[in-house]
Formats: sequence, C-alpha cells, structure tokens
Amino acid sequence: MGSARIVVIGTGYVGLTTGACLAGLGHQVTCVDVDRVKVARLAAGQVDILEPGLEELVSRGLSNGRLRFVVGSREAVADAQAVFLCVPTPMGAGGAADLRAVEAVIDEISGTVPAGCSVITKSTVPVGTAQRIRDLLGRRDVPVVANPEFLREGTAVSDFLNPDRIVVGSDDQPAAAWVAGLYADLAAPSVVTDAASAELVKYAANCFLAMKLSYVNAVAELCERLGADIESVTDGMGYDRRIGRAFLKPGPGWGGSCLPKDTHALVQVAESVGFDFSLLSAAIQENIAQRDRIVAKIAGAVGGTLAGTRIGVLGLAFKAGTNDLRDSPALSVTAMLAAHGAEVTAYDPAVGGEQPGMRIVDDPYQVAKGADAIVVLTEWAEFSRLDWTYVADLMHGDAVVDTRNLLDPQAILNAGLCWLGLGRPRRH
Ligand code: NAD
Repeated sequence: MGSARIVVIGTGYVGLTTGACLAGLGHQVTCVDVDRVKVARLAAGQVDILEPGLEELVSRGLSNGRLRFVVGSREAVADAQAVFLCVPTPMGAGGAADLRAVEAVIDEISGTVPAGCSVITKSTVPVGTAQRIRDLLGRRDVPVVANPEFLREGTAVSDFLNPDRIVVGSDDQPAAAWVAGLYADLAAPSVVTDAASAELVKYAANCFLAMKLSYVNAVAELCERLGADIESVTDGMGYDRRIGRAFLKPGPGWGGSCLPKDTHALVQVAESVGFDFSLLSAAIQENIAQRDRIVAKIAGAVGGTLAGTRIGVLGLAFKAGTNDLRDSPALSVTAMLAAHGAEVTAYDPAVGGEQPGMRIVDDPYQVAKGADAIVVLTEWAEFSRLDWTYVADLMHGDAVVDTRNLLDPQAILNAGLCWLGLGRPRRH
C-alpha cells in the first residue's frame, strides 16, 4: 500500500505514538486533540510524555511535512481515508468503560467523514462498540474497524513498530484487510477477524496479564508463609514454555492506566451477558489484598505501627521507564501510609511536582534523611546502584522494604541495614 491520509484523534500515549509512527511509515498524518496547549506544544515539537524515540519521530514528521497537529476533528477528517480513535476510555460508574469521549468524537465527525473512510477504534473499547459507533454515525458508507493497540508505556515506539501481532476486526472484511495493510511494512503476523473478536482480544489479553500478576503475588505470599523463595519458584516455573518468564515477578500490585480499568470493564461486560467472571473478580480482589499486605509489611518493619514514623519512598510511577502515575500502586501504598499517620518523603527519577500526602524530593538520598524505613515501590534500575552505606548513615531506622525484589540484599546487609523483599526470606 502507498501513503494513506490518516487522522489520529487523541494525542496521548497511544495517539501520539500511533500518529508519529504512521507518519514514520510514510503515511500523511493529522493528529487532533481537544487540548489546545498540548497541540501547540506538539506542533512546536515538544513532547511531554517520557517515551524513547517519540520526540525524534515527531520532529522528523513535522520537518518532512508528514505530521501535523490541529485542534478539532470536524474539518480534519474531511479528506481522510482512515480515522483512528485514540481517546480515553476510563473506568466509569460501576466499573464499565466510559465511552463518552468516543461518542463525542463520533458526534463531531459524523457529518464530515467522507464515504469509504474507515473509522478505527484503537482505544480499548468493550465488545459491541463498533456496532454502537455504526449506529451513532448513521452512515452505511463508512466502515467501522476495531484495531486494538498493545503498546506498553515506556517502550511505546518500539512496541508499535515491532508488535507481536496486529489485530484488526470488522464486519466489513475488505475494510479490515485495508486497515491491516496500513501496517504492511511491519514484520508482524496479523489476525483479521470480526469486530467483536478483535475488541475482545484486547481485554482477554490484558486481563490474562493481570491474573498472572495476581497469581504470582499470591504465590509470593505463600512463599513467605512456607519459607520458600519466590525467585527460585518463578525461575523454575519460567523454564516451562507454556508459562514463560514475562509477568512473573511479584510487586506492590498491578496498576497503570490500563489493567485496573480493563479488568473492571470485562467483569462488567461479562455481567451484562449474565456471566459471573469470578476468576477475574478474584484477581482484582487479590490485587487490593496485595496493597494491604505491603502496608502491613512496612508497618511490621518499623515496629508494628506507622503513626509518627518517617517513611522514605523510592519510586512513584506504576512501573519503571514511565512518568505515568495513573492508578499507580505506589500512590495507593503511599496514601495508605499517610492515612496511617506516617510522614512520607518520595523520590522518582521521572516524577516531580506535588502529590497529596507526601513530600516529593529530587534526590534519592533525601528520602533517607531521618527515615525509619525505605520502601522501593517502582523498579527503577538506579535504585539498585545507590550507596547503601551512605543511606544507612542518613537513616534513623534500619529497614529497607523492597517490594520489587530489585536490590541486592547483600549490599543492604553490608551497610548494616535489614532487607525485606516479597516472597523471600528476610535478611538481617
Ligand atoms: P491519554 O490520556 O494519554 O490520551 C488521550 C488524549 O485524548 C488526550 O490528549 C486527550 O486530551 C485527548 N482527548 C480526549 N477527548 C478528546 C476528544 N473528544 N477529541 C480529541 N481528543 C480528545 O490516553 P492513552 O493512554 O493514550 O489511552 C487512550 C486509549 O488507548 C484508552 O482507551 C486506553 O485504554 C488505550 N490504550 C492505552 C495504552 C497505554 O499504555 N496507555 C495501551 C493500549 C491501549
């Protein structure tokens, strides 16, 4: 396929990556957002999200004229061949996906989108959304295609350009095949199917990952109670090719902008067709319990009660490599620490500014000053390279709670501190 005229609506993690990468693949791309400030900054080549390679792709697209940024989708779509919807679909009332942003865009473009142009959902949308968009559009000459996105924050560009698979679904198969063709230059298998199946692939995959994490967190808890070591257990499990090593590391609970809302949304979708997806509900409950267990572990490390203690937190982002704080388990844990009366000081290499219930500092050693315990909540590699002897000198207490099993326990012990990981024997 040659170059296509593409409009991408929403310039967040997914939309900006999609727009910049499609322009990089030779397509002519217009990116649209409602946020005027963001559009102005992007038009000047300024990218505010932390994604390796993204700023370079944006500035290349701007300078070779394949990428532009505008406010308002009504006019932007007028000569498009494809419109990608990359707007938020947050958790709404009762846990179901809130589709108001998708509906607002459809309302805006329904009169101007040209005949034959594919309207494509890249946002994560529940099964039935393609049909709903068709109804809202009221246009039989505009195919609706589901094309879920699987990129991960922190590696968005490389994931987009090297995907494990492309999934495209529509009840208009020629349109689905045409959309799959937009990615022809990427060496990835494509699954071309109906709209409902494509929509479900995304939820089924994300919820499976969430369940895997809940499972490994529960196994880590079992390890602690049974005197086993989760590192050896997951090492032994990971050799099994049916299981694999990915998503097999315990942590403070899964979070981020996708897994929490997508798990709740699938439970709701199941309920809407009379199916009690109790397996998935249990994974959500296990994730809540994990945060409670982490807070109890920190309390235990400082003598049983958090009130009046000073806790130094390393890491706030929901995972290393991103500055995204949405639904970060680190924020839930710090909020719970503060609610129990602890004074929290936090450092994250990618996060500045202010957050409720804590003081944010710009140097990891500052969190150690007078701290009764240090708690690692995000797996930034730089934390494992800290000078722990210096940290020990700055601290008031001696506990290091490593909820990512990131640090070298021996380095902590050598500094005279006590190391508590997850699912591993305590070292002191
Ligand atoms: P985001 O919040 O980073 O970006 C959304 C953008 O859409 C914002 O810039 C916002 O201003 C804009 N927007 C909102 N309403 C708009 C409207 N009516 N018209 C034009 N622009 C509008 O969101 P995101 O993380 O990129 O996620 C977008 C979708 O992609 C969600 O459905 C999400 O579940 C899905 N998704 C996200 C990821 C991820 O890692 N973030 C991965 C795969 C899929």
